[in-house]
Amino acid sequence: MIPNQVQVVIVGGGFSGIAAAKKLHEAGVSFLVLEARERLGGRVYTKRFENGLYLDFGGQWIGPTQDRMYALCQEHGIAYFETFNEGKNILDLGNKLKTYRGTIPKLDLFSLLNLDWIIRKLENLARQIDLHAPWNHPKAGEFDGQTLDHFLRKYAKTKACYQVIRVGCETVFACDPDELSLLHCLFYIRSGTSLDCLINIKNGAQQHRIKGGMQTLVEAMAKPFIGQIRFKSPVKGISYSQERVEIHGKDFTLSAQKVILAVPPPLLAEIQFSPELPKEKKKLLQHYPMGRVGKCFMIYQEPFWRKLGFSGQSVAGEDTYFQTLFDCSPVDGKKGILMGFTIGSRADQFFQLTERERKKEMQTTLVRYFGEEAHHALQYEDFSMKEENWSRGCYAGLMQPQAWTQAQDSYRKSVSPLYFAGTEAAVRWHGYIEGAVLAGEAAANEILESLKND
Ligand SMILES: Cc1cc2nc3c(=O)[nH]c(=O)nc-3n(C[C@H](O)[C@H](O)[C@H](O)COP(=O)(O)OP(=O)(O)OC[C@H]3O[C@@H](n4cnc5c(N)ncnc54)[C@H](O)[C@@H]3O)c2cc1C
Repeated sequence: MIPNQVQVVIVGGGFSGIAAAKKLHEAGVSFLVLEARERLGGRVYTKRFENGLYLDFGGQWIGPTQDRMYALCQEHGIAYFETFNEGKNILDLGNKLKTYRGTIPKLDLFSLLNLDWIIRKLENLARQIDLHAPWNHPKAGEFDGQTLDHFLRKYAKTKACYQVIRVGCETVFACDPDELSLLHCLFYIRSGTSLDCLINIKNGAQQHRIKGGMQTLVEAMAKPFIGQIRFKSPVKGISYSQERVEIHGKDFTLSAQKVILAVPPPLLAEIQFSPELPKEKKKLLQHYPMGRVGKCFMIYQEPFWRKLGFSGQSVAGEDTYFQTLFDCSPVDGKKGILMGFTIGSRADQFFQLTERERKKEMQTTLVRYFGEEAHHALQYEDFSMKEENWSRGCYAGLMQPQAWTQAQDSYRKSVSPLYFAGTEAAVRWHGYIEGAVLAGEAAANEILESLKND
């Protein structure tokens, strides 16, 4: 039986909403989570197959400095393992294949020095950003007035350097570099520790995967209060005053003292608020698109590329649909799984193809990289969060040029009794699952403080 009156309603059962719910549960506050889908996890989605196979169609990796994620794994007895990262990587530029080891691809000396210089420049600028107020940087106006692509084209002096740094940025931000503000890029780098940390497997954001898939963790977190989650309950409208909030959906009206909104920006923009949200927040929400990336999986009897000395990783220019590839085989290596990211405008084109054509494209690329054995796949799967009504893209919302300097912190700022969570409200690890958890916990803490004062 679902109560129609609680202290707090949480909208969204992704990591952020569930992290908030966990805090409130531990504090003995009555709450209800309203989740639009039939499952938990939102942008984290582990597709489980009958044969025991599972694929993380959404977020999957964790890495050093994501301290809450490791603590939650420990608390819930969830095992994680090292991402496979041995052997030769492939660089595919101008239809030529080269192999290399480590993070930085083998380029001619000038391009290599140029690439190193750009990475250092981005790192140095990012270190100067105040995570709580990126708009306070003395050059915030200049950085926020240009796109990341403007910066890359200005400083990349060779085509090879531009192509490689572009693919790196596309993989980190899940968009074309002309779709986001340079200031947002610098904030995001600082928020995720450093560019080195964001792009690396070892000592980086891709270091570990969750045994059984990432959704296992959010399900474990929600287990103690699963009865306080109402599924298939999209929130359509919220009327609020200082004293009370009413939350409306197709077949429900609930009343609460406070609400936490833990949904992606385009979905927040569709909720009818009465009175309307503050002007700056509303304006930002009108221009806050999501990134877009497709995950494409080719499944083999075994990870045959490992025997050939390959890591399964690649970096590719525009001649293929897949910017990067990773070995996503299960921990026991009993199946071989290669996962390709298709991102931004490449993803837009890729998902116009039929599923058969998409499979063929990936197979052709894998045969080019790893030889004839790549023909013998057991299964192909792909997935795009952009097509999901309750996500509209990923990994996260993209702050456009001028957004940080004009809207400042209006996205995450609470308008009591409304509190805003979700990874887009995170200061640290913004865009990542860790950020979602931190933002959910921060919103719950703010509410606990204010209930104490009430
Ligand atoms: C393909 C892909 C790869 C990624 N890789 C990684 C990775 O490896 N590591 C990493 O850390 N991060 C990764 N991310 C990002 C990460 O998944 C997200 O940052 C994080 O899951 C966001 O969590 P959230 O709770 O803020 O939002 P969400 O997960 O989007 O949760 C929001 C929830 O709200 C629900 N909802 C929406 N609107 C309404 C409404 N009106 N009423 C009720 N419910 C509503 C949705 O159904 C959803 O369940 C990836 C994301 C994708 C999609």
